[in-house]
Amino acid sequence: MIRKLLTITVLTMIHLAVTNAQVLAFYDGHDDDEEEEEAEIDSLQIEESGFVSFVDFDHQLIPCADLYHFSWDSLNVDLPRLDAKDSSDGICLSLVESDCGYFHPCPGDINSDYGWRKYRMHKGVDIDLETGDSVFAAFDGVVRIAKYNYGGFGNYVLIRHYNGLETLYGHLSVRLVQPNQTVRAGEVIGLGGSTGRSTGPHLHFETRYKGLPIDPNRIIAFDSQSLKLDTLSLTVQDFKAVTPPPSSTTRSSVSYYKVKSGDTLWSISRRYGTTVDRICRLNGISRNSTLRIGQRLRIR
Ligand SMILES: [Zn+2]
Repeated sequence: MIRKLLTITVLTMIHLAVTNAQVLAFYDGHDDDEEEEEAEIDSLQIEESGFVSFVDFDHQLIPCADLYHFSWDSLNVDLPRLDAKDSSDGICLSLVESDCGYFHPCPGDINSDYGWRKYRMHKGVDIDLETGDSVFAAFDGVVRIAKYNYGGFGNYVLIRHYNGLETLYGHLSVRLVQPNQTVRAGEVIGLGGSTGRSTGPHLHFETRYKGLPIDPNRIIAFDSQSLKLDTLSLTVQDFKAVTPPPSSTTRSSVSYYKVKSGDTLWSISRRYGTTVDRICRLNGISRNSTLRIGQRLRIR
């Protein structure tokens, strides 16, 4: 009996979430991000996390509601998808206002950059961290998605900001925020980890506009952990950047790994699906070289 009641409760919550997502998302579409997967797995997450229904959410709190066509979807990262007509004249986003600053999500080096990998687009940057390190919201905003994605991001959080951008934080060990929750820049939204499709602890961090990824390096200076610009101008060219350039689908982006205790060239090569010889060639070292903890090795 109790089990039956629980099932009904969970099903009701799923129904509420899905119904409201459909009502709020004026733009139809599907998520073709390779790191995303089907909604039936999302329903498990609703059961696991005690998901907060949209019913009590004041829709006036949605950041940049008109810019995003009043879409507020708690399941799909890429909704709403940018309409080509919207981008014809370009757009200018004021990233920081007097009462809304920037806070660096986590202080590590970039292990893998934004760009095309062998078969797919890497839509963000991978920032080195240790499991349990704090991960901070980059700007003020409202959490749109906070859930587990088994195939890709693992535990992840996506925030819509008042400046028009969205940011995504993947592979967290712990989520500390709920959908529809207001957050301030610098607020801890989760703890770093290696959940989902991940080969070691890092933060997968994306900057997005209307369902399309923007190279975070355009906006953020990762070495000084600061914003590069106060105003971001996006043009048609930026929106085309997600299309693979001709013959580039076989070109992988440069990728680095920071050596940790216990690593060997063999274990690193296995982890990244490459060979010891290739790592040696890329780094000008020999198979017998001694690795130092903290040493940066180019993997691709
Ligand atoms: Zn990544």
